[in-house]
Amino acid sequence: MRVFNFAAGPAALPVEVLEQAREELTDWQGSGASVMEISHRGKPFLAVAREAQALLRELLGIPPDYQVLFLQGGATGQFCAVPLNLASADSTVDFVVTGHWSKKALAEAERFTARVNVAADEAASKYTRAPEPRALRLTPGAAYVHYTPNETIGGVEFPYVPETGAVPLVADMSSTLLSRPIDVSKFGLIYAGAQKNIGPAGLVVVIVREELTSRARPGTPAVWHYRSMAAEGSMLNTPPTFAWYLAGLVFRWLKAQGGLAAIGERNRVKAQRLYAAIDASGFYSNPVEPQCRSWMNVRFRLADAALEEPFLAEARAAGLANLAGHRSVGGMRASIYNAMPLEGVEALIGFMQDFQRRHG
Ligand SMILES: *Cc1c(COP(=O)(O)O)cnc(C)c1O
Repeated sequence: MRVFNFAAGPAALPVEVLEQAREELTDWQGSGASVMEISHRGKPFLAVAREAQALLRELLGIPPDYQVLFLQGGATGQFCAVPLNLASADSTVDFVVTGHWSKKALAEAERFTARVNVAADEAASKYTRAPEPRALRLTPGAAYVHYTPNETIGGVEFPYVPETGAVPLVADMSSTLLSRPIDVSKFGLIYAGAQKNIGPAGLVVVIVREELTSRARPGTPAVWHYRSMAAEGSMLNTPPTFAWYLAGLVFRWLKAQGGLAAIGERNRVKAQRLYAAIDASGFYSNPVEPQCRSWMNVRFRLADAALEEPFLAEARAAGLANLAGHRSVGGMRASIYNAMPLEGVEALIGFMQDFQRRHG
């Protein structure tokens, strides 16, 4: 029996995608082998790779002057690939700090750039909100501005896209890409680890404006060198073929759901129902400012922390899995990415209400 899986990442995948992968696992398209066991340079796999890229372009409306790369090393690899590709060693970069992942990205950038300017840091709010647009202290002429549109652990999402003028805007969209439509042209570079909302772990998607791929400093590792990778169709070395194939199936599934406008509306409703249930309970609470509440990662606490363990155990017994919050913040977290159906969210709400009646 499959559970409703609220894991933050690696996260649930659409069951239809898993079933198709199972169906063709041992004999992929009559090849007598699995898609994992064929050359990445042969025509059949190249067709898979191209289709996945084309679908991602179509879903996100990616303008033609952007490269789409399928790389390895996760979002964490991009924490250093971005400064190596976009900034010289003596330049200044701006960081907006809104929680765990933006801090990690900043720490890595500090190793590769002369100056990291903290354009805003939401520490005073205990990382329960995004800064106001006018509170951003941006450096004129910075190499780029980096921010984390959705903080996966804190459950904080920006309700706006920062205006950075001529300075390229870089976004770690690991836990929000494909959750709703976005205007890619506002960004210089977007990156996202696949294991939240795209596919299995092992793949990181980079969407980068073409002109930014010619700024890499000497010494940039080839596997993270955007222009070299773009020139080789992301196949300078062996790519994570199975993850790429599965991501392509997820993109097909998304298109069949009606694309990002339809999935975005579904995600909005899912998040709204869960937050409304939390707010109305008088038992559960969410610390995030309402306009910055994440659609993807919903944090909540119980009125009595001693009830956390029984909550998790009973939830698991009811088929609601992986609701423990990140160890750095505690409490609960329900990650409700694209693959989580509304009925999963409703089952969670029903369980929460029942638990409250019995223990509240
Ligand atoms: C999960 C996550 C990361 C880390 O991804 P890895 O693939 O493990 O490197 C970075 N940023 C955000 C926003 C994340 O959600």
